[in-house]
Amino acid sequence: MRVNIQLRCTECQEENYLSSKNKKTNPERIEKKKYCSRCNKVTIHREKK
Ligand SMILES: [Zn+2]
Repeated sequence: MRVNIQLRCTECQEENYLSSKNKKTNPERIEKKKYCSRCNKVTIHREKK
């Protein structure tokens, strides 16, 4: 049930991370605080759809 997702920085829209999630436990778009090399800081990264 796991699907691969891309995590995109909400500030610069850069796709920085590849991740995976379980569709059953996480049907909604996920958000994670991650370091963005383009922003040079930790930003919210949201699942790209
Ligand atoms: Zn960024």
